[in-house]
Amino acid sequence: MIAEQLHALPAEEVADRLGADPESGLSAEEAARRLREVGPNALAARERPHYAAVAARQLVDPLVALLVTAAVISAAIGEELEAGVIAAIVVLNAGLGFVQEAGAERAVMALRNAVELTAVAVRDGRETPVPARELVPGDLVLLRAGDRVPADARLVSSGSLAVDESALTGESIPVDKDVDPVASGAPLAERSSLVFAGTAVTRGRASAVVARTGPAMEIGRIADLTQAAKAPPTPLQRRLGRLSRRLALAGALLTVLLAGAMLLQGEPLDEAFLVGVAVAVAAVPEGLGAVVTIALAQGATAMARRGAIVRRLPAIETLGETTVIATDKTGTLTANRLRVAAAEAADGRDVGELLAAGALASTAEPVVSGDELVGDPIDVALLRAAREAGLEPGEGHDRLGDIPFDALRRRVTVLVRGPSGLRVVVKGAPESVLELSELDSAERARLDEVAGGWGDRGLRVLAVAERILDDEGVPLEQAEERLVPLGIVALEDPVRPAVPEAVKTAHGAGIDVVMVTGDHPGTARAVAERVGIPVDREDAVLARVEPVDKLRLVERLQGRGDIVAVTGDGINDSPALRRADVGISMGLSGTEAAREASDVVLTDDDFSTIVAAVREGRRIADNIRTFVAFLLSANFGEVVLFAVAILAGLGAPMTVVQVLVVNLLTDGLPAVALARDPASGDTMRRPPAGLGTILGRDLSLVLGAAGLAVGLAATAAFLVGRELDPDAAQTMAFATIALAELALVFAVRVPRGPAWRAGRNRWLFLAVAGSVVVVAAAIYLPLGRDLLDTAVLGPAELALVLALALAPTVLLEVAKALRFRR
Ligand code: ADP
Ligand code: MG
Repeated sequence: MIAEQLHALPAEEVADRLGADPESGLSAEEAARRLREVGPNALAARERPHYAAVAARQLVDPLVALLVTAAVISAAIGEELEAGVIAAIVVLNAGLGFVQEAGAERAVMALRNAVELTAVAVRDGRETPVPARELVPGDLVLLRAGDRVPADARLVSSGSLAVDESALTGESIPVDKDVDPVASGAPLAERSSLVFAGTAVTRGRASAVVARTGPAMEIGRIADLTQAAKAPPTPLQRRLGRLSRRLALAGALLTVLLAGAMLLQGEPLDEAFLVGVAVAVAAVPEGLGAVVTIALAQGATAMARRGAIVRRLPAIETLGETTVIATDKTGTLTANRLRVAAAEAADGRDVGELLAAGALASTAEPVVSGDELVGDPIDVALLRAAREAGLEPGEGHDRLGDIPFDALRRRVTVLVRGPSGLRVVVKGAPESVLELSELDSAERARLDEVAGGWGDRGLRVLAVAERILDDEGVPLEQAEERLVPLGIVALEDPVRPAVPEAVKTAHGAGIDVVMVTGDHPGTARAVAERVGIPVDREDAVLARVEPVDKLRLVERLQGRGDIVAVTGDGINDSPALRRADVGISMGLSGTEAAREASDVVLTDDDFSTIVAAVREGRRIADNIRTFVAFLLSANFGEVVLFAVAILAGLGAPMTVVQVLVVNLLTDGLPAVALARDPASGDTMRRPPAGLGTILGRDLSLVLGAAGLAVGLAATAAFLVGRELDPDAAQTMAFATIALAELALVFAVRVPRGPAWRAGRNRWLFLAVAGSVVVVAAAIYLPLGRDLLDTAVLGPAELALVLALALAPTVLLEVAKALRFRR
């Protein structure tokens, strides 16, 4: 197979063998034909949710074992109908769990696909943005600094190209690449004429012919990368897991205890066994796992609607717990829509020359799209200013080479041949450019003073310098010296309108906002003041920062216990994005490399979207806490009921099926609806909740009190029922618990205030109405009575049930009113 020697063959030959044109690329039809033939450029394992694994998870569940046991015992003691109903519930529950989990996984994957890699390919001779998954062997792709390499490809032209191959080789120092063939036996790391999918361009630019796509790529051979699709459980899910295990243990103990008590009371073994299972079923919150998954998926969708695309589910919770947001300035706090506000020519030069040279020194010339110029905003601003001055900077110039902007050098250098001969033009941060220039100290002082004044007004300052070369042989890097300054330019970048309010909201929510910028300290301070970041607090504004400093900042903040969200756009930001608790990248401007390293992508690059996402994260976490408390209160109530009834020698107060209907259905529906509760008014007016508590103290209190009240109400219903009509006693207990929960759901939504202070949630009303219908059908429809083994309740019994069912909610509201009185 030729693929094995691509690195050793001359570029033209490789292109030839791949049926590719190194100038005009493939035609659109040929690309489409090849795509049908070889399939999408994707690693198969990431394509779809793992349906088999999702299904298996539904079945290897202790709950299923418990229920199967219950069904078997029921069948053994002649309760075939009950056994059948339990079996049906097992199947139904597994099916629902499957649908929900697969749906949630699909939703998250769809979101992730929405921010999938785009490549620039040449098709029919035109540069065309193409989704990376549609690339085919033979495609000509263009690469430049900040891009992710979209497929394994052979270079056909390159300029100072360097690539970070750590994803493939583990080597973190970028490697230089060029078109020259290398020895055929060279190991992967030395195949400098090839670039590999999944690696990132750190410097320079290139064009390359795609050689391999999809699973055939080098990265496809790294097994663990292709299997990374399944997200680990979120911290909350882990804490819930721990809680569930504790509950299961408590349930097991209780089961043994109560079954033992029955045996001591002289009940037959199989009867004791079945009641034991019923106790266990009552103690375990069966619906919990599914509801949490649904809530997180719903949260991811809600955040996407607000412009924050979650790439990793745990980020939803972590966002809500964030204590510091370290944010970029340009593009995140500001609009990155630059305009030249002032220009100061160096001694003996004029502003026209300055603007023309500034516009010339761009690595990606802005292109016209509609009637707008598209490109690096700095380059666009300079070009527009030059044109407004009646100049056309590119005219009469041939571009021979360039060094693109990077955050360390803080400048752009180009080599052009023009009317005045061979010329190096440099533009960038004044420190960086003037350092390389020859100018006397008086002139330097003058320019510095002008620049300082501009900085204090929040303007971005660039210096431009040039050098006329007489010798063509000098490498570009070495030509960057003894420059002649042309002057300095001030660029205005308006603050994004929603940002000052968002910074205020963040502060009110106990979240620090830190600005991290490569820009000049003066400019940084002025912008900070404008958006409301306190400039005199230590560490609030970090200017002229290098990418490693960002990583150190994240580590230092984490070291003192902060939960850190950090933004980043450059390829050098990847380590900080990975290290942060929440790495946030830019959907509009940033590099693919930064997006790949991040947990969240902002579709609008706007800081205020981060704050909106934090609010959303807190809402989800609040809602999860609420429905955990809600679901557990039912379990608590059932346990109280069973304990009293059995210890009093009265037998099981509810059947297994009745318990399951409450835990999964009449409680499950409102719990799912609770996930959609709107944020409460104080969501962003209190400090971050802090990791480690699922149930805050207030909520635990609510849960304990409510669960106890529900249990006592049901016990009362059961005891009175035995006196009124022994056949209806279990039905009364069942109806009391089910209905008590349906009233309680409105009270637990607001753990610290009256129920009516909650926001509107029509899903909740629908869910509660649905559950009421289920309870009514279980009692008043013959089929319902058969399935749930219930009896009709007469008016007196029904009135009693309703009164008892309302009691816990009334008690809870009174207790809250006393405790949280304003
Ligand atoms: P920020 O934190 O504001 O995004 P950057 O790290 O992007 O800052 O830029 C740092 C400095 O580098 C800027 O203040 C500017 O002087 C210079 N610079 C930024 N972009 C360019 C560019 N395209 N060409 C030349 N110089 C640039
Ligand atoms: Mg920047």
